Amino acid sequence: MKLYTKILIGMMIGVVFGLLLGPNSSILPNDGVRLSASATVFQTPDGAEQVLAKGLTDARVLGQRGDWLEIEYSLSPGHLMRLKSAGVPAAEKARANVIMTGWVKEKIPEVFRYAPIGQSIVDYTSWIGGLFLAMIKMVVVPLVFFSLVGGIASLGDVRKLGRMGGRTIGFFMATTVMALMIGVGLTNLIKPGALLSQEDRDILLSAYGGSTGSTIANAAGAPSFGDQLIAIVPTNPIAALASGDMLQVIFFATMLGIALTFLEGDRAQPVIELFDRLNDAMVMLVHIAMKIAPFGVGALLFKVVGNTGISVLYALSVYALVVLLGLFLHLVLTYGFVVRVWAKLPFLAFLGAIKEAMVVAFSTSSSSATLPVTKACCEDNLNVGPETTSFVLPLGATVNMDGTALYQGVAAIFIAQIYGMDLTIGDQVTIVVSATLASVGAAGVPGAGMITLAMVLTAIGVPTEGLALILGVDRILDMFRTATNVVGDSTATVLMARLEGDNLRIMSDAEDAADPTKGFQGRLGQGQQSVSGDKDEG
Ligand code: ASP
Repeated sequence: MKLYTKILIGMMIGVVFGLLLGPNSSILPNDGVRLSASATVFQTPDGAEQVLAKGLTDARVLGQRGDWLEIEYSLSPGHLMRLKSAGVPAAEKARANVIMTGWVKEKIPEVFRYAPIGQSIVDYTSWIGGLFLAMIKMVVVPLVFFSLVGGIASLGDVRKLGRMGGRTIGFFMATTVMALMIGVGLTNLIKPGALLSQEDRDILLSAYGGSTGSTIANAAGAPSFGDQLIAIVPTNPIAALASGDMLQVIFFATMLGIALTFLEGDRAQPVIELFDRLNDAMVMLVHIAMKIAPFGVGALLFKVVGNTGISVLYALSVYALVVLLGLFLHLVLTYGFVVRVWAKLPFLAFLGAIKEAMVVAFSTSSSSATLPVTKACCEDNLNVGPETTSFVLPLGATVNMDGTALYQGVAAIFIAQIYGMDLTIGDQVTIVVSATLASVGAAGVPGAGMITLAMVLTAIGVPTEGLALILGVDRILDMFRTATNVVGDSTATVLMARLEGDNLRIMSDAEDAADPTKGFQGRLGQGQQSVSGDKDEG
């Protein structure tokens, strides 16, 4: 069975098990209840006067009367002190660490029931996804470094690099703006913010209000453009490698590669050779890691599906659908056009060639973590030369995030609509400009786009507390926008390869399986550990 088929089966199992056996399971006993900071525990099931406690996070359900849940809980000494100082009368009589009972009103997503057994299953299995993620992340920094130094040195000509660099950055910017125009246009047309009821709005704001504080604080510290530019040059390249600062690593590797091309005669040759061999070894590590992808991907999806409440999705469904529709249109129109017309490849076959990268991006929500897989797909299945992939892809994974930009455009306008704010044409332009920068500034890790979204909101004067409104569906949308980001990087790669005159072509499954030096089927295929020395550069 092909690796991709196995990954798909893993995904499906993750989704089905997530629905059946996750914390939101409908078949497991749902006698746990999660409470947000504002939820209040009362003595009687009608909200009558006596308040017993506040600020619980988790409790056990004993029974239900209408909307009211009878719960069993205990208070820690610290919690009890806080209640006393807040002047809750019942706290005077209560004792710490004693089981007590009370009533809370069920209100999704502020107070909702879940299945503790499902939560335990998620807790016990999440290491599988974590292990897979760690295995591919382990390769990212050395792979980028070794392949970029080798790639730049073998370009042999700084002008060629300058040309490719200029084109790549220009293309990244153009597609990001295109994505934003699609997102902004759709949101103005469909107006999802006008469709959310006042009640849903209040619930979302109160349920997630507390958890956005750190997000907002993070974004507020964003450095200026000039500082960001200087920060790309590492004062200590080893520190840059150690901390995995991708732009710094790219900069240093590029400079080192250029320096190597200036060495006289064949003095650079042994170094380039060494880096090439190390790069080969890293590629092999990616293939080893991908062996556990079906399990890893399944476990990651199990966790996401299991933890996302359907009811949150319902309130935000129109907003989420606008994001998804926008991503789809950008994929088909923008990338479809570029791949078909400029890179001259059949679009569906192109998507087929990068399918492993798409599913890994989808399930990990991290374009940085997916980078090794994207690189392997572009080189092995589309025959792009390593000089192109080793430059365009790491840069793309760090700065080119069309999916993120599109989502930020939609989210900013959606939140403004909910607050009843009218955005002028000037505001909309500000959104396009600031979301372009915010998507560049977002790291390729889960949830990064939501953090830099605060910058966009600030730019148009929308309260950043509004982030609380969209937090509930962010994890799901992150999966789709990350997959789009990775397709965007691959599109840039094939276009640059075409412009540099690479011999692009779609490798068939049969070719893949037959070539032990390439592809997910060929390398490590059929149990044979073929690591032949000479690499076929086609
Ligand atoms: N998770 C995205 C990525 O890695 C970034 C984002 O949060 O939008 O590409």
